[in-house]
Amino acid sequence: MDLVAGLNDEQRNAVIAPPENQLILAGAGSGKTRVLVHRIAWIIQQMHVSPQQILAVTFTNKAAKEMKTRIEALLNVDTRSLWIGTFHGLAYRFLKLHFERVKLPRNFTIIDADDQLRMVKRLMNTLNVDTERWPPKEVVAYINGNKEEGIRSSYIQRQGFQSNDMYIDLYQAYEEACQQAGVVDFAELLLRTLELFRDHKEIREHYQERFRFVLVDEFQDTNAIQYAWLRQLSGKGNAMTAVGDDDQSIYGWRGARVENIHAFEQDLAPANMYRLEQNYRSTKIILKAANAVIANNSERLGKELWSDGDEGNKILLYAAFNERDEAKYIVERIKEAIKEGKRPIDLAILYRSNAQSRVLEEALLQESLPYRIYGGQRFYDRLEIKNAMAYLRLARSTQDDTAFERIINVPPRGIGAKTVEQIRYHAREQGSSMWESAITLAGTGLSSRAANSVKSFVQLIESFHVLIEQVELHELIDHVIEKSTLLIYHQNEKGGKGEERAENLAELVSAAKVFEADENKFDEFIDAAALDAGDTQADEYESAVQLMTLHSAKGLEFPYVWLAGVERNIFPHRMSAEDPGRLEEERRLCYVGITRAEEQLTISYAETRRLHGREDFNGPSPFLKEIPTECIEEVRLKTEIRRPASPMFTPSSENLPKGIKLGARVYHDHFGEGVILDIEGADARTRVQISFDWEGTKWLMLSHANLTPIE
Ligand code: ATP
Ligand code: MG
Repeated sequence: MDLVAGLNDEQRNAVIAPPENQLILAGAGSGKTRVLVHRIAWIIQQMHVSPQQILAVTFTNKAAKEMKTRIEALLNVDTRSLWIGTFHGLAYRFLKLHFERVKLPRNFTIIDADDQLRMVKRLMNTLNVDTERWPPKEVVAYINGNKEEGIRSSYIQRQGFQSNDMYIDLYQAYEEACQQAGVVDFAELLLRTLELFRDHKEIREHYQERFRFVLVDEFQDTNAIQYAWLRQLSGKGNAMTAVGDDDQSIYGWRGARVENIHAFEQDLAPANMYRLEQNYRSTKIILKAANAVIANNSERLGKELWSDGDEGNKILLYAAFNERDEAKYIVERIKEAIKEGKRPIDLAILYRSNAQSRVLEEALLQESLPYRIYGGQRFYDRLEIKNAMAYLRLARSTQDDTAFERIINVPPRGIGAKTVEQIRYHAREQGSSMWESAITLAGTGLSSRAANSVKSFVQLIESFHVLIEQVELHELIDHVIEKSTLLIYHQNEKGGKGEERAENLAELVSAAKVFEADENKFDEFIDAAALDAGDTQADEYESAVQLMTLHSAKGLEFPYVWLAGVERNIFPHRMSAEDPGRLEEERRLCYVGITRAEEQLTISYAETRRLHGREDFNGPSPFLKEIPTECIEEVRLKTEIRRPASPMFTPSSENLPKGIKLGARVYHDHFGEGVILDIEGADARTRVQISFDWEGTKWLMLSHANLTPIE
């Protein structure tokens, strides 16, 4: 097969370049990944290099798989001996081969972030360290931060201050505990591999000789240790190819360093630099929009993409009335597209943060459209949501052992694994629930510390139980996540997760508000969530609409893309708007989003949004103004969108009782006078939102509210 037939001159030059270091710096959709794939094929076929002598690094496992498939299609060779994977995946492979050198047991295991935190906590308990003063999450962040910079506890200078030295002590104790248990966390994978290369000359040189070609995709998002790792692999005249786009560097918040591009130029003196400027992915209009947006960033190496493809359709812009209207609009369009014969897998919905997926998921579920959340979890599968739901479940039924086990020590309340085991055993013996056993054992059997913790846990859950009948569902949830300290607990998680987890919890309150219109809401809400978390998600091989955050979408492409929630405070994320550096990173994320679309891009925002438990009027994102107006077609004039758009949300006014309309003043027997803010649903399910003068804002079922209009 002619490996360079479908390439432009610059791409071809990069593919057939002699075995020297090279840097390919180019914009989105210009064929960087394609060049990498063809180069690997070329090296094997034309330079007669064995696949074993090639190592390629990709950003995700999915990308690695894709790359292998593409190489196989080009060459018809077995690619199993190729080393293609993520930094973590490859590190694991090196360590498995050289476990003795790095002093790991043969069967060492990888622990994830949750396991790591649990381990640190256990350690701190054993050492009697005050977890208030040294929060375990900060200890974990400290450990990982140092590992990512390549720093072991033994290298860190002690300052003689207890507060500081404690971190070093804990880091050291953690290293020892991991070593003892034969476990390796994510950062350790990279650091151990770096040490393997650095401290063992013969191994380093063996691999430098073996891997005659090292190729790295998405180079702009490598961090310090990953770069150091690559440096170790470079030598003995092998050739390293780095491929990247400074405009798509979106992991700065996680330690990625765009500066590695400059470091590469200096350290590895690439014989050639290639700049690809022709984009093959998107229509001219989409590209023009992307170029215009990214041009507003000041820190750029600078490049402009062009395309000789079709002009294409304008970017559709939909100003939704609220978040449900937005979801409804998107799902309607998706339904139409599928009806026209488009494959669901070609349709993608992208958004800034995970919490935004809930409303979209609900709209898709309602229409029974298969969907998959890529690189993230579905809303009700998320850890913090499961924890919150477990509190509600236990408040509903104390027999729910799974819920009990899940939260008996989450957030930590000093009930250790041993106590839980004791309770579990007792329950099994007595044939009772764990709840009952816990109460019995708290009377006699447990240590007084554990007994006290169990007692206050029981009281806490009972206090929630009483409220089920007394307050609105969303108030209950709000109360539960606060009083259980679940919110604060998740909020304090480090590594960028805490913020998101807190947002998701608040989003659960929003979900409950929408649910409240229905009778018997408490039970239904819990069960609906459980069903949602079940197996309605499309399996891997079914063609499904793809949902993902912008971060997860990097490197991917889809014929039809919906970019949802392009609103101020959401995108750019409200944490980033004030800081110029972070704002530029958000803009790069916007650039990534726009350039995922091949044929049609639709952007939407909601005028009001209930997210994170609040109702916000964010208005359109400032990034929207950066897109040239001639690229955009507004789906409806903004001024007309004073009312909900779709039939589901727009009760035709003829069906409403006289005097019930937006802005009307009404009287309610119980809550007194108020103003109608919103009307939703139709017929018997019509709901109205009223701002009462004395009672705050409430949603009521119109058919039951018995409202009297006031002139
Ligand atoms: P990103 O920055 O988003 O990772 P990229 O630079 O890696 O993008 P690719 O994904 O390699 O770009 O290519 C984008 C699309 O353009 C792919 O569908 C690819 O097959 C196609 N493409 C690239 N080069 C050519 C070419 N010379 N002729 C035809 N199609 C091409
Ligand atoms: Mg790519």
